[in-house]
Amino acid sequence: MILVLLGPPGVGKGTQGGRIAVHYAIPTISTGAIFRAAVAKGDELGRVIQRYKIEQGEYVPDDVVIAAVKARTTEPDCEKGFLLDGFPRTIPQADALNDLLTEQNRKLTGALLFEAPIADIVRRFSGRRVCPLDGSTYHIETQPPLIAGRCDLCQSVLIRRPDDEPEIVQRRLELYNEKTAPLIAYYRERGLLTTVNANLEPETVFSHVITALNSLTRQ
Ligand code: AMP
Repeated sequence: MILVLLGPPGVGKGTQGGRIAVHYAIPTISTGAIFRAAVAKGDELGRVIQRYKIEQGEYVPDDVVIAAVKARTTEPDCEKGFLLDGFPRTIPQADALNDLLTEQNRKLTGALLFEAPIADIVRRFSGRRVCPLDGSTYHIETQPPLIAGRCDLCQSVLIRRPDDEPEIVQRRLELYNEKTAPLIAYYRERGLLTTVNANLEPETVFSHVITALNSLTRQ
């Protein structure tokens, strides 16, 4: 299965993606997570990414993002398939994904769109916390860690991502509407779009996701 997760920032793609990945035993490729890890490591990609203001939500140029995804999809754990979270984010990235899959003799299974009202998304951002060490995501109301303020996996102190600050969230939503939302029509026109209501309990959303994916993979 090769799946694109679509939807505005903060809608819960990361959380649902994590569950889908476990359920189907395939890796999640999150371009945002790849970039944050590269910056933290200070490797070659990290030095490139540092030129762009990802902490302020600005998009990294398409060619940089596409090269990173290309490299990641050729790793052995992607043989059975993978989930794409945060990629593609622009039409040229979606075209590049098509070319990449054609080169690899593979096909996109579908694009799963997570939908939620804007007010709900803003509320999600304000409660979102992440582990700076392993990247796992929590929400103080809907998905609290076992011990308040601590990562379940490594006990690190949870933080708010710098780009989750309200004024940066505003900019990220603007960029999403301008550059990424057109991908909804892009995948709908190609008969690849499936929509899921993300404005429910994570458990319920996940069961709807599995139903949707079962019918997608049966097609
Ligand atoms: P995310 O974790 O998906 O919200 O990504 C964090 C940040 O990384 C984004 O706000 C962008 O600055 C950058 N980024 C991640 N994926 C992409 C992409 N596909 N295209 C351009 N920029 C990206």
